[in-house]
Amino acid sequence: MTKHIFVTGGVVSSLGKGLNSASMGMLLESRGLKVRLQKFDPYVNIDPGTMSPYEHGEVYVTEDGAETDLDLGHYERFTNTETNRYCNFTTGSIYYSVIMKERKGEYLGKTVQVIPHITNEIMECIQKLDGPDTDVVISEIGGIVGDIENQPFLEAIRQFGQKVGRENVLYIHLTLIPYLSAAEEIKTKPTQHSVGMLRQAGIQPDIIICRTEKHLSAEVKEKLSLFCNVDKNAIIEEKDVKPYLYEIPLILVEQGLDKLIIQKLSLKTNGDNIDKWLSILETLKNPSQATEIAIVGKYIGHQSAYESIYESLIHGGVGNSARVKVRRVESMDIEKNGVKSYLEGVAGILVPGGFGERGVEGKIEAIRYARENKIPFFGICLGMQCATIEFARNVCNLKGANSTEFDINTVHPVISLLEEQRKVSSKGGTMRLGAQPCVLQVNTKAFQAYGRRDISERHRHRYEFNNTYKEIFLSKGMIFSGHSPNEQLVEIIELKDHPWFVCVQFHPEFKSKPINPHPLFKEFIRAAIGFYKENN
Ligand code: GLN
Repeated sequence: MTKHIFVTGGVVSSLGKGLNSASMGMLLESRGLKVRLQKFDPYVNIDPGTMSPYEHGEVYVTEDGAETDLDLGHYERFTNTETNRYCNFTTGSIYYSVIMKERKGEYLGKTVQVIPHITNEIMECIQKLDGPDTDVVISEIGGIVGDIENQPFLEAIRQFGQKVGRENVLYIHLTLIPYLSAAEEIKTKPTQHSVGMLRQAGIQPDIIICRTEKHLSAEVKEKLSLFCNVDKNAIIEEKDVKPYLYEIPLILVEQGLDKLIIQKLSLKTNGDNIDKWLSILETLKNPSQATEIAIVGKYIGHQSAYESIYESLIHGGVGNSARVKVRRVESMDIEKNGVKSYLEGVAGILVPGGFGERGVEGKIEAIRYARENKIPFFGICLGMQCATIEFARNVCNLKGANSTEFDINTVHPVISLLEEQRKVSSKGGTMRLGAQPCVLQVNTKAFQAYGRRDISERHRHRYEFNNTYKEIFLSKGMIFSGHSPNEQLVEIIELKDHPWFVCVQFHPEFKSKPINPHPLFKEFIRAAIGFYKENN
């Protein structure tokens, strides 16, 4: 029987429920258990696919093409589980499903209500991940206890415990223990209140994870234990771990969280091995070399807009025993002040995905700088499209070349709408999404990286390389190193006479893990290290 862990948050948001859920998943896996993870987001959008990165941060794409919360990226990076569209639900998607059922008459004339219809729907979503192969499902409830929109989710997980038996579920509450420097005191009251609210909703947490800047004394733990009605050994101290997120599982192990979960859920484990994880941390902390990469984008100011890219660069570093320093460059700044001062001295440049015209010319300038100065360059999705435009304008002499996304009347539409997109008008889940096969040409940088011809990568785009221009590009030194199996879509481009200039139409960052760095990120970092050595 599948057991369930519910992770709720208290006091403030952004405490790292996703990272903690992912870390628990990793620890349970290391003991031979099969784990799956999912997230419930209380907002009304059906999914984050239509939200601005400023608003929501990165949109993470699953193999099956769902546009989901970036916490699913943590789940996949920390564990071996694959996420899919059943791993992220929102208030919007839950209501949408219930309303569709109502329209089909599935409720047989009943009044459709939050309880039981919405809560039943939530419980069904939780059980979608159950199965003979799954020992534990970890469900993260977004937002914090006390939010109005959180209530149906709390009620559903309360009922769920009742339904499957309290011994088969575990409620873990992640909270903040603030330190007031003026009073030089740690404060437990906000946590007491948030647990109080949880108990009002009928949920007694089994374990409390305390995010804290300071060590929690035995006295503080006793107080929390008493007022929150939680065993003292189930008060877990989690001190801030910056800069390495991958340290969180170790902190939790030190505090005995894994043992506690196993004991409380009576799980049968097999082995206990986190050696690989430890060796990654060792490399992260004591790398043998270093390199600096610039990311040129337009959501640079938002902490998590390029989350998977930042992490993948770290993985690429681990793969080369190198520390990767990231220089975040706002593409509009390049448009205003020129490229040189922003990019001088970096060993590699990356232009990530994006939408809309703003900042595109700055990205194109950055790409030109990378091409002309033979600095390793990695273009991803929009980054590949910008590299195509740059090459068209400055190498093929196609003046005014552009993507029809930015200039519908361009004389040279080197990037244009995918054929299948021409009839699409509604937003949300309508792009070319998810895993698509791709065939590599041998003797290319891409082939060198992957070491095989057939690959599959995740996509999220509407526009593509316009094949009408292939001949001119070929004659000027562009290499088309990856195509869709029917050869209709260009998926990877490279440049001759450049140490490493590789651009992909897909998003390799969604498949990179610390334990298994993505081959393109690994090769990019390797090229950057080589560039630095040659030029210094
Ligand atoms: N805006 C471009 C497109 O839709 C690129 C998308 C992206 O970078 N994810 O094709």
